[in-house]
Amino acid sequence: MTGNANHGDYHSMKMWRMFLVNISMAVLVVIMLVYLGILIRNNQLIGEEIQARARSYFQHIVLARRWNAGYGGVYVEKKRGVESNPYLENPDISSIDGTLYTLKNPALMTREISKLAEDGGLFKFRITSLRPLNPGNGADEFEKRALEFFESGMHEYSENVADGEKTFFRYMGPLFVEAACLKCHAKQGYTIGQVRGGISVSFDVTEILGSLHRQRYIIIVLSTVTALLLIGMLYAIVRRLMRKVRDLYARIEAMSFTDELTGLSNRRYLFARLNAEYERAGRNSRPISFIMADLDHFKSINDRYGHQAGDAVLRDVSGVIKSELRKSDVVARYGGEEIAVILPDTPGDLGLAIAEKIRKKVEDHGVILSDGGVLKVTISAGVSGFVPRGETAEGVEKLVRSADDALYRAKQNGRNRCEVSEP
Ligand code: GH3
Ligand code: MG
Ligand code: MG
Repeated sequence: MTGNANHGDYHSMKMWRMFLVNISMAVLVVIMLVYLGILIRNNQLIGEEIQARARSYFQHIVLARRWNAGYGGVYVEKKRGVESNPYLENPDISSIDGTLYTLKNPALMTREISKLAEDGGLFKFRITSLRPLNPGNGADEFEKRALEFFESGMHEYSENVADGEKTFFRYMGPLFVEAACLKCHAKQGYTIGQVRGGISVSFDVTEILGSLHRQRYIIIVLSTVTALLLIGMLYAIVRRLMRKVRDLYARIEAMSFTDELTGLSNRRYLFARLNAEYERAGRNSRPISFIMADLDHFKSINDRYGHQAGDAVLRDVSGVIKSELRKSDVVARYGGEEIAVILPDTPGDLGLAIAEKIRKKVEDHGVILSDGGVLKVTISAGVSGFVPRGETAEGVEKLVRSADDALYRAKQNGRNRCEVSEP
């Protein structure tokens, strides 16, 4: 039984371990995915927010330019420090009272607002073109990429650009030629809807990216802690379950090898052990004995006292027989009221002596019935024993048949006696 039990235990242990490993992996993967999803979504949201901010700056500037272009440029009073736009023909005019004014066209206005924004530390933007009228408005590398991108019909371009310790978000939108632009730019061959350049916006996102980075660490720590907690809980639950199942398994296994009525081993277990013990005895050239005992006139006990009393007698006698034997001997219910005993490492004559000891014990015992009466029962026994030689299956059959034959003789010779088979 122990061999089988260990085998089952080993398998269930392995199964539980596999179960634990698999479910831990599943938990790990799910938690990683969930946190990864949160992380990605967060990055996305913040990215979208930054993009929206840049787009909004861009649109404000486009709006201001449209306002300006709508008037074909706006004149301002040319006070000290107010420069004329060198790229315009005749930018200056004077009023009747002699005050001097100079024309601020959309391009110049954009540049001046850009300077204000930059000086105010808000954000930077510049108007640029692949073919600028003012060479100072030439596109830098980022802007060139963006402008080429617009040629393919796209309306937005952005990148994070590192600049020393800081990172800037750079955004660029295209400037389309509108009807108002043609007032001045028709002579340069502009047509409505054409992309002549763009406005690039840039602002510092070092801090936002820094907090995103910190958030990544927080999420890694959180997901690790969550996973460890869950796996720890799982482990505890599985260990408890495992212990329960192992107990149950042992109980079921014991039940499958036990005779319910007598508590002795059952016939299945008897033959499993008989084969194993026979083989072992053969290997070690040691003798093995087998006793087949049968209650005498049991039918009449049943008839006189009832089946239940018969059961009680069977239980009682089983207990007596078992208590007379060693732990290493196997005592099993062979059939109805037949009890078999395997005696490992025991020659036939010693087997007979043991059978005789049992017979005597049962005879002296006296079963106490439920009505308080004492019932004398006896058994007859047949014994066989030898040192195994040859095949196990045949040898076991011979051992059992010989004991059975000897039992038959014991019955024939008057019962309440033991017989040993011829060696
Ligand atoms: P003998 O001395 O020749 O063995 O006589 P016997 O009456 O014991 O022999 P037989 O084999 O004719 O009868 C065995 C009886 O045992 C018959 C059956 O009713 C009874 N029996 C078998 N199993 C059980 C059981 O589990 N409980 C009870 N109460 N009786 C059983
Ligand atoms: Mg009988
Ligand atoms: Mg019988």
